[in-house]
Amino acid sequence: MEQNNKTFSIFTLGCRLNSSESSYLTQEFCNRGYKLVPFLEEKADWVVVNTCTVTQKAEASGRNVIRKAHRFNPNAKIIVVGCYAEMAKEEIEQLEGVHLVLGSSNKHKIFEYLDENECIDAEIPPGFSSEADYHTRGFLKVQDGCNNYCSYCIIAHARGEPKSIPLEELLKHAEEMLQNGIREIVLTGVNIGEYKSIYQGQEIDFAQLVKHLLLLPFERFRISSIEPNTVTRELLSSLKDSQKACAHFHIPLQSGSDRILELMERRYARDEFLQSIALVREFFPDAAIGTDVIVGFPGETEADYQESRSLIEEANISHLHVFSYSKRKGTKAFHMTDHLSNKIKEKRSCDLRQLGDIRLHQFMRLRLGKETSVLFETCSNSMAQGLDPYFCKVRLATDRELKNQIVQVKLNEIVGDSFVASLL
Ligand code: SF4
Repeated sequence: MEQNNKTFSIFTLGCRLNSSESSYLTQEFCNRGYKLVPFLEEKADWVVVNTCTVTQKAEASGRNVIRKAHRFNPNAKIIVVGCYAEMAKEEIEQLEGVHLVLGSSNKHKIFEYLDENECIDAEIPPGFSSEADYHTRGFLKVQDGCNNYCSYCIIAHARGEPKSIPLEELLKHAEEMLQNGIREIVLTGVNIGEYKSIYQGQEIDFAQLVKHLLLLPFERFRISSIEPNTVTRELLSSLKDSQKACAHFHIPLQSGSDRILELMERRYARDEFLQSIALVREFFPDAAIGTDVIVGFPGETEADYQESRSLIEEANISHLHVFSYSKRKGTKAFHMTDHLSNKIKEKRSCDLRQLGDIRLHQFMRLRLGKETSVLFETCSNSMAQGLDPYFCKVRLATDRELKNQIVQVKLNEIVGDSFVASLL
């Protein structure tokens, strides 16, 4: 693809979902001929800040990043998107350098705006963008919004009612990804298990959507995160039959205590979470299971915390993400009375992170010596790095250009949180 001589950089705050959406935005910019440059290292024409409101700290970080970007390059046009942009549009518009503020549900309007306001000379032919191959995994957002209204979460308020993207549109995006050389498709959304749309006159749910997408010739297929109460036998059976689904599932837990789960207004109890994990393992016995846990929710006792800890062990979690609860205005939990001290929250979060490290290493030790496939994402200084289907990082010393290739390797050694592998 021809370049249009314009550059962009992108900075992402917050959750996994924001990261996957940033990957999508990056791809779309590259598809339009913009060149990606590193944030705060090279001056860009456009700077995108993808914000988050999960905590008030995240909002302050969002403002700081915008100010830094403006100081670094006062000529850059800054676009602010994401949940914080949705909740505090007017406040953000006051910040110097900010050119455009878009919420979460209308991030894609960046491109309508650019298409209308930027004079781009380059023809944009369909097909592979050499910049877009920076991303070897393509993120396909299938829905947005959530109406679970968990008591700690602002996302449901910020993103509104669930909206599913029609299958026809998703198939079109997926075809574009294939044309752009994407090898692994990752399905994302705020609450993807709630997907519902009409296709050829029939209502389809998430499991049926997955069945359709699995027919496309991607080599790997992954689901970014799915709520425990939406994991179904039909979904797992299609994934298993496809032979290309990664044996890696991210299923948010948040707490192992039934009392806290109820206060959080989650839609499942401890036992139901365990049943979902058991169902996954019925189809994928050696699956890597990731989860999110919030520590220090208002009223969380030491006994409640220990129940989270024990559930992580019992469910054999390999990839653990720990969050310390922090107050969010606009949520029910904000008004709860028994908030915990920072000291207790830090102690529990530190303890749980250590457990997370131990769990990951236990999982990695079980995989040591095994053969696996790796999709390499970067290749520099004679070192290729990528991910295996179990979402483990793998490094390989090689002079070969392996970026965006899926290669069979043997896992020889564990160094830090990565495997060191050799070619088969
Ligand atoms: S399921 Fe709960 S935590 Fe997740 S987006 Fe919906 S309201 Fe927020």
